[in-house]
Amino acid sequence: MKFYDAHNHLQDDRFAGRQSELLAACAQAGVARMVVNGACESDWPQVLALARANPMVLPSFGYHPWYVHERTPDWQKNLETFLDAIPGAVGEIGLDRWKPELPYAGQEEVFLAQLRLAAERNLPVSIHCLRAWGQLHDLLRDHSRPARGLVLHSFGGPAEMVPALARLGAYFSFPGYFLHERKLRQREAFKAVPPNRLLVETDAPDQLLPAERNLHPLTGAEGRALNHPANLVAVYAGLAEFLGEKLEPFAACVAENFQRVFGGG
Ligand SMILES: [Zn+2]
Repeated sequence: MKFYDAHNHLQDDRFAGRQSELLAACAQAGVARMVVNGACESDWPQVLALARANPMVLPSFGYHPWYVHERTPDWQKNLETFLDAIPGAVGEIGLDRWKPELPYAGQEEVFLAQLRLAAERNLPVSIHCLRAWGQLHDLLRDHSRPARGLVLHSFGGPAEMVPALARLGAYFSFPGYFLHERKLRQREAFKAVPPNRLLVETDAPDQLLPAERNLHPLTGAEGRALNHPANLVAVYAGLAEFLGEKLEPFAACVAENFQRVFGGG
């Protein structure tokens, strides 16, 4: 069986230079490919370096809403340079009205500039959205989108919006964090997702899954627990179990979806 991680942050400094070791564990666990998402200009070079060194890594470059205030005057040109180097994906981009003290002003403008780049180049795009589902839906509806589709990473929106978002080309990506008992509403929403639009992710080093499912415990430099990207297999297993499906056909379906939207084998 092959497993595909639709969204992680392998370049994250909290992994403290252990990326080769993590990748080896992922290969051993059956991870075939992973989309490694940059979040701001300062981490794009690390994402590119990881992709150049490891065929398992599909690089994604973008400005995350949490960091848009750090952007340089040349950020768009800079982003295009990275997308020219390896045209993998655009992301992580998005809208966030949840994080306290994060200004919303400016987020839509940066989101739309990146969506436009993805549409022009027909690259898949990874979208973060917290408490801005109405805005996201309307922006996607009113602007051009990549023909190959777009990925709603850690989709936590309302189940009722799934059909409308799917019509706009959305894929819905499930993180292990939603396997926590209290995340029932988020898990339930995945029952509304068409099987051909389902993806699975770790979002490593974040979104740790429940302790009893964490097959690869990992501790960061400050003693904080991190999500190991090889936990992907446990996330697949948890979601398949919740949806009442057998792991093997479920994994084959997710693999097809991943290849359709992100390309490659
Ligand atoms: Zn992320």
